[in-house]
Amino acid sequence: MIKVYDGQAYEMVEVVPYVRRDGGETLLNRWRSRCAACGEPFFFTAPAEATKFSPNRRCAKHKSPGRKVARQRPQRIKNDDVRVGNE
Ligand SMILES: [Zn+2]
Repeated sequence: MIKVYDGQAYEMVEVVPYVRRDGGETLLNRWRSRCAACGEPFFFTAPAEATKFSPNRRCAKHKSPGRKVARQRPQRIKNDDVRVGNE
């Protein structure tokens, strides 16, 4: 399975069993992608049942939590802002 997140491709390579801190068993998906900074392949894991996909964008070397890759977020246009004709 391949997901594209914000223009970055992620390939799911395996599912790994994982025991949570509370002792519950769950599954993690292991994803492979390429670092947004250097292009080197890297892996990250995310809960298999997670509905939200918010992957790492960079390899461990370039990982920097405070600095995000510029994200293209669709702007929600309010009706008030849409003006037809009459400029
Ligand atoms: Zn990197």
